[in-house]
Amino acid sequence: MSDQNNKELEALMAETVGIKVGPHRSWDAVNQPMIRHWAEAMGDKNPRYTDPEFASSTEEGSIIAPPTMLQAWTMRGASWKHAPGTQERTADQPYVLDILDEHGYIGVVAVNCDQEYFRNLVPGDDISHYMEIESISEQKQTGLGVGYFVTELWIFVDQNEEKVGEMRFRLLKFLPPKRAPKAAAKPAAEADSKPKKALRPRPGMNKDTRFFWQGLKEGKLLIQRCTSCKTLRHPPSPMCPSCRSLERDAVEASGKGVIHSYVNVHHPDLPAFDASPNPVALVELEEGTRLVAGLIGIEPEDVRIGLPVQAEITQCDDELALALFRPLSEKEQG
Ligand code: ZN
Repeated sequence: MSDQNNKELEALMAETVGIKVGPHRSWDAVNQPMIRHWAEAMGDKNPRYTDPEFASSTEEGSIIAPPTMLQAWTMRGASWKHAPGTQERTADQPYVLDILDEHGYIGVVAVNCDQEYFRNLVPGDDISHYMEIESISEQKQTGLGVGYFVTELWIFVDQNEEKVGEMRFRLLKFLPPKRAPKAAAKPAAEADSKPKKALRPRPGMNKDTRFFWQGLKEGKLLIQRCTSCKTLRHPPSPMCPSCRSLERDAVEASGKGVIHSYVNVHHPDLPAFDASPNPVALVELEEGTRLVAGLIGIEPEDVRIGLPVQAEITQCDDELALALFRPLSEKEQG
């Protein structure tokens, strides 16, 4: 993009700074059930959140909400609808993220979030928030691409419009790197007549798990083993959960196991998978560890817990080998 284009874009963006949008109302006042669910999910056992008797001796004299719940009160929820009374963004309130999208900066990644709390919230508080763009950086070259850092300032107020908290939420909007030219660039006559089959998703691979995927490429189903106490473990991890040793190697599994649990995946219907629904099992190997794997040679309705299965190491494409499991015949079981 030329400097002139950048200047025009940056002028458009500058006009969006400081426009205050809102209020965004909350569906529910601060309440004990939501506080209890949050504290449970976070594993936070502070009695000020859940024990009314304990809380009666505190400054507030009642339960308080965990301060980090601040943003939860005005969230739109799964319906993606704003609560009644919300003032939506209007046509004369341009939003910098929309402008960046229109200019091709469609990549987005959250960078950081800071919250500041001015008082504890108690059941009955009715929270709203306003949002404005606080600042936009100059154009930056980042590891993800060229982009702009945008800082949103969220201002949370109570039923008396008194400020109870603030949140600064920073995003990077970037131009995604250009993709390699596609086959469509070839003259039509040269292009493959058959549509290519979609590839299976690639596994997440790191230093700890590489041996497992490499083993499959060599036709072996490997299980990680602690060399100190000989405990087997899967999925692979750096430390033995039994003795905390960091020393490990791997042993080859027989590939025999039973279905410990399973699911027939109806949705989403992915083009890389032939079967729909797609049967996926948690297989317990005879060595004792369990792994998640696709099932082959079986109709989804015939899958059942306890079914004996055998790994079949399958080269799915040039790069990916997987252990898929098929039912063992009665002869093989005997
Ligand atoms: Zn160990």
